[in-house]
Amino acid sequence: MTAEAAHESGQIQAGRGEPLVVLDGVDKWYGDLHVLQDIDLTITRGEVVVVIGPSGSGKSTLCRTINRLETIQGGSITLDGQPLPAEGKALANLRAEVGMVFQSFNLFAHKTILENVTLGPIKVRKQSKDAADKRGMELLERVGIAHQAQKYPAQLSGGQQQRVAIARALAMDPKVMLFDEPTSALDPEMIKEVLDVMVDLAERGMTMVVVTHEMGFARTAAHRVVFMADGAIAEENTPEEFFTNPRTERAQDFLGKIL
Ligand code: ADP
Ligand code: MG
Repeated sequence: MTAEAAHESGQIQAGRGEPLVVLDGVDKWYGDLHVLQDIDLTITRGEVVVVIGPSGSGKSTLCRTINRLETIQGGSITLDGQPLPAEGKALANLRAEVGMVFQSFNLFAHKTILENVTLGPIKVRKQSKDAADKRGMELLERVGIAHQAQKYPAQLSGGQQQRVAIARALAMDPKVMLFDEPTSALDPEMIKEVLDVMVDLAERGMTMVVVTHEMGFARTAAHRVVFMADGAIAEENTPEEFFTNPRTERAQDFLGKIL
């Protein structure tokens, strides 16, 4: 079945909510490089979209445009029906609604694990320290790090730090979570503990955009796989269809190299 037919039959959209993140004809340039080319992508509430594709195809740029770390030159992006604000307080609020987890965990080295998680809620969401601490501990519990709350990032393994980064993003109560290769900097034995947290999040109904080449995660948790090549969406389909029956030569070629 083609992606279009799957869409029409309701196979891909079945059980999903309304549109949450909508990219409509998005174009982005870095100088002469047309890094995002006419991207149309609708992510519905509760949907888990895995983005894969060769290095340099624009996956990170796509994530960075969704939380407005990058500006776009054409098209539009809306979050929950609202256009992304350009600057100021509105932009800070938007960032709070879009959680982002990077390959490098980017924790604050001089703050404790709990302080890393509560900083945003206290500063941006104006929560009281008590309320932020309580919620922070719940989230650290959820990602299995509660007993390390008073330690500093350098005292934790990479997998543990990445789970803290996820808890930190969740503490802002985001509407959508973006993950940009969250496990690619981790030692192999730590990948599963991070993916398990992500699968749990998906099962709880979080809307997620996940750039990853972890096929196991895509097959377990993704509703849809989006394959990017040269700044464009070359193909999209359910994980089952995409991995067993890629339609484009680019996707066949790519899967041949990584599987
Ligand atoms: P991916 O995440 O799929 O590897 P990226 O989105 O990081 O791809 O990069 C897409 C293309 O844009 C690459 O050719 C990269 O070199 C280029 N690029 C990324 N960031 C910048 C930047 N800040 N300035 C100029 N070119 C960039
Ligand atoms: Mg990237």
